Amino acid sequence: MRNTARQTRDNRTITVDFRNEATYFQLLGDGKAFLECVLAFVLALGFQLKHKATCRGGGCLTRHSHYVRVRLGGVTIWRIQCTTCRAVFTILPHFILRYRQMRPEVARDALLATHGGLSLELCAMICHLSPMALYRLICALGQQSLVTALTRCGLPLPTYFLADEKHSRCLTDKVYLPTIVTGRVLWHLGYTEEASAAAFTQSYQEFQRAAVDQEPTYRVKGVLTDGFDSTTKSMRTLFPGARLGTCLRHALLKLPKKLVAIASPVRKALRSQFHTLLYRARQRKGLRVFALGQRLRRFADHVATTAGTANGERVRRWFQDKKTGWYAVLEDPQMPVTSTLLDQAHNAIDRKLFMMKGFHHPQGSQQAFLRGLAHLYNLVPYQRRAKHAGQCGVEVEGGTVPTRDWFLNLQILTSGGFR
Ligand SMILES: [Zn+2]
Repeated sequence: MRNTARQTRDNRTITVDFRNEATYFQLLGDGKAFLECVLAFVLALGFQLKHKATCRGGGCLTRHSHYVRVRLGGVTIWRIQCTTCRAVFTILPHFILRYRQMRPEVARDALLATHGGLSLELCAMICHLSPMALYRLICALGQQSLVTALTRCGLPLPTYFLADEKHSRCLTDKVYLPTIVTGRVLWHLGYTEEASAAAFTQSYQEFQRAAVDQEPTYRVKGVLTDGFDSTTKSMRTLFPGARLGTCLRHALLKLPKKLVAIASPVRKALRSQFHTLLYRARQRKGLRVFALGQRLRRFADHVATTAGTANGERVRRWFQDKKTGWYAVLEDPQMPVTSTLLDQAHNAIDRKLFMMKGFHHPQGSQQAFLRGLAHLYNLVPYQRRAKHAGQCGVEVEGGTVPTRDWFLNLQILTSGGFR
Protein backbone atom coordinates (compact mmCIF):
# COMPACT_ATOMS: atom_id res chain seq x y z
CA MET A 1 0.00 0.00 0.00
CA ARG A 2 1.20 3.44 -0.82
CA ASN A 3 1.83 5.78 2.04
CA THR A 4 -0.72 8.53 1.47
CA ALA A 5 1.17 11.00 3.62
CA ARG A 6 4.09 10.86 1.21
CA GLN A 7 1.98 11.37 -1.86
CA THR A 8 2.67 14.64 -3.60
CA ARG A 9 -0.16 16.42 -5.33
CA ASP A 10 -0.16 15.56 -9.02
CA ASN A 11 -0.15 18.37 -11.50
CA ARG A 12 -3.34 17.81 -13.46
CA THR A 13 -3.37 21.09 -15.32
CA ILE A 14 -4.36 20.98 -18.95
CA THR A 15 -4.19 23.76 -21.51
CA VAL A 16 -7.24 23.93 -23.76
CA ASP A 17 -7.48 25.89 -26.99
CA PHE A 18 -10.73 27.91 -26.84
CA ARG A 19 -9.80 29.68 -30.11
CA ASN A 20 -10.51 33.14 -28.73
CA GLU A 21 -11.02 34.77 -25.38
CA ALA A 22 -14.64 35.73 -26.08
CA THR A 23 -15.60 32.08 -26.59
CA TYR A 24 -14.01 31.19 -23.28
CA PHE A 25 -15.87 33.87 -21.34
CA GLN A 26 -19.12 32.85 -23.01
CA LEU A 27 -18.58 29.20 -22.06
CA LEU A 28 -17.87 30.12 -18.44
CA GLY A 29 -21.56 30.78 -18.04
CA ASP A 30 -22.65 27.39 -19.40
CA GLY A 31 -21.33 24.42 -17.46
CA LYS A 32 -22.54 21.74 -19.83
CA ALA A 33 -21.18 23.45 -22.93
CA PHE A 34 -17.89 24.13 -21.12
CA LEU A 35 -17.42 20.47 -20.24
CA GLU A 36 -18.35 19.36 -23.74
CA CYS A 37 -15.87 21.78 -25.24
CA VAL A 38 -13.05 20.57 -23.00
CA LEU A 39 -13.80 16.90 -23.67
CA ALA A 40 -14.08 17.49 -27.42
CA PHE A 41 -10.68 19.18 -27.39
CA VAL A 42 -9.05 16.32 -25.47
CA LEU A 43 -10.72 13.78 -27.76
CA ALA A 44 -9.54 15.62 -30.88
CA LEU A 45 -5.95 15.46 -29.62
CA GLY A 46 -6.34 11.74 -29.02
CA PHE A 47 -5.11 12.21 -25.46
CA GLN A 48 -6.51 10.80 -22.24
CA LEU A 49 -6.87 12.59 -18.94
CA LYS A 50 -4.62 11.48 -16.11
CA HIS A 51 -7.05 9.98 -13.63
CA LYS A 52 -5.91 8.35 -10.42
CA ALA A 53 -4.26 4.96 -10.79
CA THR A 54 -7.35 3.04 -9.71
CA CYS A 55 -9.74 4.86 -12.06
CA ARG A 56 -10.60 3.68 -15.53
CA GLY A 57 -11.77 7.15 -16.47
CA GLY A 58 -15.28 6.58 -17.76
CA GLY A 59 -15.47 10.19 -18.85
CA CYS A 60 -18.00 11.12 -16.20
CA LEU A 61 -16.80 14.57 -15.24
CA THR A 62 -18.43 17.34 -13.34
CA ARG A 63 -17.55 20.97 -12.97
CA HIS A 64 -15.79 21.54 -9.69
CA SER A 65 -15.30 24.64 -7.59
CA HIS A 66 -13.94 27.55 -9.53
CA TYR A 67 -11.56 30.17 -8.39
CA VAL A 68 -10.86 33.64 -9.53
CA ARG A 69 -7.40 34.54 -10.74
CA VAL A 70 -6.87 38.03 -9.46
CA ARG A 71 -3.39 38.29 -10.88
CA LEU A 72 -4.63 38.21 -14.44
CA GLY A 73 -7.36 40.80 -14.28
CA GLY A 74 -9.70 38.39 -12.54
CA VAL A 75 -9.98 35.63 -15.12
CA THR A 76 -12.03 32.72 -13.82
CA ILE A 77 -10.44 29.30 -14.08
CA TRP A 78 -12.61 26.20 -13.83
CA ARG A 79 -11.62 22.89 -12.46
CA ILE A 80 -13.34 19.68 -13.44
CA GLN A 81 -13.55 16.60 -11.28
CA CYS A 82 -13.92 12.92 -12.12
CA THR A 83 -16.96 11.58 -10.29
CA THR A 84 -15.32 8.16 -9.88
CA CYS A 85 -11.77 8.86 -8.66
CA ARG A 86 -12.27 12.48 -7.62
CA ALA A 87 -9.17 13.62 -9.53
CA VAL A 88 -9.38 17.35 -10.18
CA PHE A 89 -8.18 18.84 -13.46
CA THR A 90 -7.43 22.54 -13.75
CA ILE A 91 -8.46 23.85 -17.14
CA LEU A 92 -6.23 26.62 -18.37
CA PRO A 93 -7.50 28.52 -21.39
CA HIS A 94 -4.82 28.93 -24.09
CA PHE A 95 -4.33 32.60 -23.22
CA ILE A 96 -3.14 31.95 -19.68
CA LEU A 97 0.19 30.45 -18.59
CA ARG A 98 0.25 28.26 -15.53
CA TYR A 99 1.06 30.30 -12.41
CA ARG A 100 2.45 33.12 -14.49
CA GLN A 101 1.50 36.72 -14.89
CA MET A 102 3.10 36.80 -18.29
CA ARG A 103 0.81 37.06 -21.30
CA PRO A 104 1.33 34.18 -23.77
CA GLU A 105 2.18 36.61 -26.63
CA VAL A 106 5.01 37.99 -24.53
CA ALA A 107 6.20 34.53 -23.53
CA ARG A 108 6.03 33.36 -27.14
CA ASP A 109 8.24 36.20 -28.39
CA ALA A 110 10.72 35.86 -25.55
CA LEU A 111 11.03 32.08 -26.03
CA LEU A 112 11.47 32.43 -29.77
CA ALA A 113 14.23 34.99 -29.25
CA THR A 114 15.85 32.65 -26.71
CA HIS A 115 15.64 29.74 -29.10
CA GLY A 116 17.17 31.96 -31.80
CA GLY A 117 20.20 32.45 -29.57
CA LEU A 118 19.58 35.86 -28.01
CA SER A 119 20.76 36.11 -24.42
CA LEU A 120 18.22 35.94 -21.59
CA GLU A 121 19.01 39.53 -20.71
CA LEU A 122 18.37 40.80 -24.25
CA CYS A 123 15.25 38.63 -24.69
CA ALA A 124 13.94 40.06 -21.44
CA MET A 125 14.77 43.60 -22.51
CA ILE A 126 12.97 43.47 -25.86
CA CYS A 127 9.96 41.75 -24.31
CA HIS A 128 9.80 43.95 -21.20
CA LEU A 129 10.33 41.08 -18.77
CA SER A 130 12.81 40.34 -16.05
CA PRO A 131 15.48 37.87 -17.15
CA MET A 132 14.63 35.78 -14.09
CA ALA A 133 10.98 35.54 -15.17
CA LEU A 134 12.07 34.16 -18.52
CA TYR A 135 14.52 31.75 -16.86
CA ARG A 136 11.74 30.49 -14.61
CA LEU A 137 9.36 30.09 -17.53
CA ILE A 138 11.87 27.87 -19.35
CA CYS A 139 12.45 25.88 -16.14
CA ALA A 140 8.67 25.43 -15.75
CA LEU A 141 8.42 23.95 -19.26
CA GLY A 142 11.31 21.68 -18.31
CA GLN A 143 9.29 20.04 -15.53
CA GLN A 144 7.74 17.74 -18.10
CA SER A 145 9.87 14.91 -19.47
CA LEU A 146 10.98 14.92 -23.10
CA VAL A 147 9.90 11.28 -23.50
CA THR A 148 6.34 12.16 -22.44
CA ALA A 149 6.09 15.14 -24.79
CA LEU A 150 7.54 13.22 -27.75
CA THR A 151 5.42 10.10 -27.31
CA ARG A 152 2.33 12.35 -27.01
CA CYS A 153 3.20 13.42 -30.56
CA GLY A 154 3.04 9.78 -31.66
CA LEU A 155 6.79 9.29 -32.04
CA PRO A 156 7.84 5.71 -31.28
CA LEU A 157 10.49 5.25 -28.60
CA PRO A 158 13.86 5.06 -30.38
CA THR A 159 15.32 1.58 -30.91
CA TYR A 160 18.47 3.12 -32.39
CA PHE A 161 19.87 6.43 -31.17
CA LEU A 162 22.92 8.64 -30.75
CA ALA A 163 24.29 9.17 -27.26
CA ASP A 164 27.02 11.64 -26.51
CA GLU A 165 27.94 14.20 -23.91
CA LYS A 166 28.65 17.87 -24.35
CA HIS A 167 31.48 19.24 -22.25
CA SER A 168 30.59 22.68 -20.97
CA ARG A 169 31.31 25.07 -18.16
CA CYS A 170 29.18 26.31 -15.32
CA LEU A 171 30.93 29.43 -14.04
CA THR A 172 34.40 27.94 -13.60
CA ASP A 173 33.40 24.32 -13.05
CA LYS A 174 33.41 21.73 -15.79
CA VAL A 175 29.96 20.26 -16.42
CA TYR A 176 28.62 17.64 -18.82
CA LEU A 177 25.39 17.32 -20.73
CA PRO A 178 24.62 13.67 -21.50
CA THR A 179 22.40 13.72 -24.59
CA ILE A 180 20.25 11.30 -26.56
CA VAL A 181 19.18 12.20 -30.09
CA THR A 182 17.41 10.55 -33.00
CA GLY A 183 17.29 12.58 -36.18
CA ARG A 184 16.02 16.06 -35.33
CA VAL A 185 14.69 15.43 -31.84
CA LEU A 186 16.30 15.42 -28.41
CA TRP A 187 15.08 12.56 -26.20
CA HIS A 188 17.35 13.43 -23.30
CA LEU A 189 19.42 16.43 -22.28
CA GLY A 190 20.95 15.84 -18.86
CA TYR A 191 23.28 17.74 -16.57
CA THR A 192 26.09 16.31 -14.47
CA GLU A 193 29.02 17.83 -12.63
CA GLU A 194 31.14 14.72 -13.00
CA ALA A 195 32.35 12.81 -16.03
CA SER A 196 32.25 9.45 -14.26
CA ALA A 197 30.38 6.46 -15.64
CA ALA A 198 28.23 6.49 -12.48
CA ALA A 199 27.17 10.12 -13.02
CA PHE A 200 26.38 9.50 -16.69
CA THR A 201 24.47 6.32 -15.88
CA GLN A 202 22.34 8.24 -13.42
CA SER A 203 21.57 10.88 -16.04
CA TYR A 204 20.79 8.47 -18.90
CA GLN A 205 18.70 6.44 -16.49
CA GLU A 206 16.14 9.24 -16.41
CA PHE A 207 15.52 8.59 -20.09
CA GLN A 208 15.47 4.82 -19.62
CA ARG A 209 12.97 5.03 -16.74
CA ALA A 210 10.66 7.40 -18.61
CA ALA A 211 10.80 5.14 -21.67
CA VAL A 212 10.07 1.93 -19.74
CA ASP A 213 7.27 3.78 -17.98
CA GLN A 214 5.68 4.41 -21.40
CA GLU A 215 6.42 0.96 -22.74
CA PRO A 216 7.45 -1.78 -20.31
CA THR A 217 8.88 -3.92 -23.14
CA TYR A 218 11.13 -1.12 -24.45
CA ARG A 219 14.43 -2.45 -25.83
CA VAL A 220 17.29 -0.57 -27.45
CA LYS A 221 18.93 -2.31 -30.42
CA GLY A 222 21.76 0.04 -31.24
CA VAL A 223 23.54 3.11 -29.89
CA LEU A 224 26.14 5.23 -31.64
CA THR A 225 28.65 7.08 -29.44
CA ASP A 226 31.92 8.87 -30.06
CA GLY A 227 33.63 6.27 -27.89
CA PHE A 228 33.90 8.27 -24.63
CA ASP A 229 34.43 5.69 -21.91
CA SER A 230 31.78 6.88 -19.42
CA THR A 231 29.12 7.08 -22.14
CA THR A 232 29.92 3.59 -23.44
CA LYS A 233 29.91 2.15 -19.93
CA SER A 234 26.61 3.71 -18.95
CA MET A 235 24.99 2.47 -22.17
CA ARG A 236 26.22 -1.06 -21.41
CA THR A 237 24.77 -0.84 -17.91
CA LEU A 238 21.39 0.58 -18.91
CA PHE A 239 20.83 -1.16 -22.24
CA PRO A 240 22.52 -4.55 -22.07
CA GLY A 241 22.24 -6.30 -25.39
CA ALA A 242 22.27 -3.09 -27.43
CA ARG A 243 24.87 -2.90 -30.18
CA LEU A 244 27.37 -0.12 -29.39
CA GLY A 245 28.89 1.56 -32.40
CA THR A 246 31.47 4.31 -32.78
CA CYS A 247 30.92 7.25 -35.09
CA LEU A 248 32.71 6.79 -38.44
CA ARG A 249 32.98 10.52 -39.09
CA HIS A 250 34.83 10.98 -35.79
CA ALA A 251 37.25 8.29 -36.96
CA LEU A 252 37.92 10.26 -40.11
CA LEU A 253 38.54 13.45 -38.14
CA LYS A 254 40.82 11.68 -35.70
CA LEU A 255 43.15 10.01 -38.20
CA PRO A 256 45.24 13.12 -39.07
CA LYS A 257 45.96 13.59 -35.34
CA LYS A 258 47.51 10.12 -35.26
CA LEU A 259 49.97 11.06 -37.98
CA VAL A 260 52.82 13.02 -36.44
CA ALA A 261 55.72 14.89 -38.09
CA ILE A 262 54.88 14.25 -41.74
CA ALA A 263 54.32 16.59 -44.69
CA SER A 264 50.79 17.93 -45.03
CA PRO A 265 50.17 16.45 -48.53
CA VAL A 266 51.05 12.96 -47.22
CA ARG A 267 48.65 13.39 -44.30
CA LYS A 268 45.90 14.61 -46.64
CA ALA A 269 46.43 11.72 -49.02
CA LEU A 270 46.22 9.20 -46.17
CA ARG A 271 43.06 10.79 -44.84
CA SER A 272 41.40 10.61 -48.22
CA GLN A 273 42.43 6.95 -48.60
CA PHE A 274 41.00 6.19 -45.17
CA HIS A 275 37.77 7.95 -46.19
CA THR A 276 37.53 5.73 -49.28
CA LEU A 277 38.18 2.66 -47.15
CA LEU A 278 35.33 3.41 -44.73
CA TYR A 279 33.02 4.46 -47.55
CA ARG A 280 33.61 1.21 -49.46
CA ALA A 281 33.16 -0.83 -46.28
CA ARG A 282 29.73 0.73 -45.87
CA GLN A 283 28.76 -0.01 -49.47
CA ARG A 284 29.51 -3.71 -49.13
CA LYS A 285 26.90 -5.88 -47.56
CA GLY A 286 27.56 -9.32 -46.12
CA LEU A 287 31.30 -9.68 -46.05
CA ARG A 288 31.97 -6.09 -45.13
CA VAL A 289 33.09 -6.73 -41.56
CA PHE A 290 35.62 -9.31 -42.64
CA ALA A 291 36.74 -7.03 -45.46
CA LEU A 292 37.15 -4.11 -43.06
CA GLY A 293 39.48 -6.02 -40.71
CA GLN A 294 41.71 -7.00 -43.59
CA ARG A 295 41.67 -3.52 -45.07
CA LEU A 296 42.51 -1.85 -41.76
CA ARG A 297 45.57 -4.08 -41.40
CA ARG A 298 46.66 -3.23 -44.93
CA PHE A 299 46.07 0.45 -44.34
CA ALA A 300 48.23 0.45 -41.18
CA ASP A 301 51.01 -1.23 -43.21
CA HIS A 302 50.58 1.43 -45.88
CA VAL A 303 50.92 4.17 -43.23
CA ALA A 304 54.13 2.53 -41.99
CA THR A 305 55.68 2.60 -45.46
CA THR A 306 54.59 6.12 -46.40
CA ALA A 307 54.76 7.90 -43.01
CA GLY A 308 57.27 5.86 -41.02
CA THR A 309 56.96 2.92 -38.63
CA ALA A 310 56.13 5.08 -35.59
CA ASN A 311 53.03 6.47 -37.30
CA GLY A 312 52.17 3.06 -38.68
CA GLU A 313 52.33 1.53 -35.22
CA ARG A 314 50.24 4.33 -33.66
CA VAL A 315 47.54 3.93 -36.29
CA ARG A 316 47.58 0.14 -35.90
CA ARG A 317 47.04 0.44 -32.13
CA TRP A 318 44.27 2.98 -32.63
CA PHE A 319 42.51 0.65 -35.11
CA GLN A 320 42.84 -2.19 -32.60
CA ASP A 321 41.16 -0.03 -30.00
CA LYS A 322 38.33 1.29 -32.15
CA LYS A 323 37.50 -1.40 -34.68
CA THR A 324 34.88 -3.19 -32.57
CA GLY A 325 32.84 0.03 -32.53
CA TRP A 326 33.21 0.43 -36.29
CA TYR A 327 32.24 -3.21 -36.89
CA ALA A 328 29.11 -2.62 -34.82
CA VAL A 329 28.09 0.20 -37.16
CA LEU A 330 28.75 -1.86 -40.27
CA GLU A 331 27.10 -5.05 -39.03
CA ASP A 332 23.63 -3.55 -38.70
CA PRO A 333 22.24 -1.49 -41.60
CA GLN A 334 19.87 0.32 -39.22
CA MET A 335 22.66 1.65 -37.02
CA PRO A 336 23.26 5.39 -37.33
CA VAL A 337 26.64 5.94 -39.01
CA THR A 338 27.58 9.44 -37.90
CA SER A 339 26.66 11.68 -35.02
CA THR A 340 26.33 14.81 -37.18
CA LEU A 341 22.76 15.51 -36.06
CA LEU A 342 23.75 15.20 -32.44
CA ASP A 343 26.56 17.68 -32.96
CA GLN A 344 24.07 20.05 -34.56
CA ALA A 345 21.78 19.74 -31.53
CA HIS A 346 24.71 20.41 -29.20
CA ASN A 347 25.73 23.47 -31.20
CA ALA A 348 22.19 24.84 -31.02
CA ILE A 349 22.13 24.34 -27.24
CA ASP A 350 25.65 25.70 -26.84
CA ARG A 351 24.66 29.25 -27.74
CA LYS A 352 22.08 29.16 -24.93
CA LEU A 353 24.43 27.68 -22.37
CA PHE A 354 26.52 30.78 -22.44
CA MET A 355 23.61 32.89 -21.27
CA MET A 356 22.80 30.31 -18.64
CA LYS A 357 25.97 31.27 -16.82
CA GLY A 358 24.53 34.36 -15.23
CA PHE A 359 21.93 32.20 -13.53
CA HIS A 360 24.20 29.62 -12.05
CA HIS A 361 24.09 29.13 -8.36
CA PRO A 362 24.19 25.93 -6.31
CA GLN A 363 20.39 25.84 -5.96
CA GLY A 364 19.79 26.64 -9.64
CA SER A 365 17.55 24.50 -11.80
CA GLN A 366 20.12 23.76 -14.48
CA GLN A 367 18.48 20.43 -15.33
CA ALA A 368 14.99 21.87 -15.69
CA PHE A 369 16.34 24.84 -17.68
CA LEU A 370 18.11 22.53 -20.13
CA ARG A 371 15.05 20.34 -20.51
CA GLY A 372 12.96 23.44 -21.23
CA LEU A 373 15.45 24.42 -23.96
CA ALA A 374 15.23 20.88 -25.35
CA HIS A 375 11.42 21.18 -25.64
CA LEU A 376 11.96 24.37 -27.65
CA TYR A 377 14.51 22.59 -29.83
CA ASN A 378 11.96 19.85 -30.60
CA LEU A 379 8.90 22.05 -31.11
CA VAL A 380 9.91 25.39 -32.64
CA PRO A 381 9.51 25.16 -36.45
CA TYR A 382 12.49 25.75 -38.73
CA GLN A 383 12.73 29.10 -40.48
CA ARG A 384 11.36 29.53 -43.95
CA ARG A 385 14.69 29.26 -45.75
CA ALA A 386 15.72 26.12 -43.88
CA LYS A 387 15.57 22.61 -45.34
CA HIS A 388 12.47 21.67 -43.35
CA ALA A 389 10.90 25.13 -43.43
CA GLY A 390 7.78 25.49 -41.31
CA GLN A 391 8.14 22.07 -39.71
CA CYS A 392 9.45 21.40 -36.24
CA GLY A 393 11.85 18.58 -35.34
CA VAL A 394 8.99 16.38 -34.14
CA GLU A 395 7.21 16.69 -37.50
CA VAL A 396 10.41 16.06 -39.47
CA GLU A 397 10.73 12.78 -37.57
CA GLY A 398 7.15 11.80 -38.47
CA GLY A 399 5.37 12.92 -35.32
CA THR A 400 2.12 14.89 -35.18
CA VAL A 401 1.75 18.08 -33.18
CA PRO A 402 -1.62 19.00 -31.63
CA THR A 403 -2.13 22.34 -33.44
CA ARG A 404 -0.50 24.56 -36.09
CA ASP A 405 0.71 26.90 -33.33
CA TRP A 406 4.09 25.87 -31.84
CA PHE A 407 3.59 27.83 -28.65
CA LEU A 408 0.21 26.29 -27.99
CA ASN A 409 1.76 22.89 -28.73
CA LEU A 410 4.44 23.61 -26.15
CA GLN A 411 1.78 24.49 -23.57
CA ILE A 412 -0.34 21.42 -24.34
CA LEU A 413 2.50 18.91 -24.56
CA THR A 414 4.13 20.02 -21.31
CA SER A 415 0.80 19.95 -19.39
CA GLY A 416 0.65 17.53 -16.50
CA GLY A 417 -3.00 16.49 -16.80
CA PHE A 418 -2.70 14.17 -19.78
CA ARG A 419 -1.78 10.55 -19.63
ZN1 LIG B 1 -11.29 9.18 -12.63
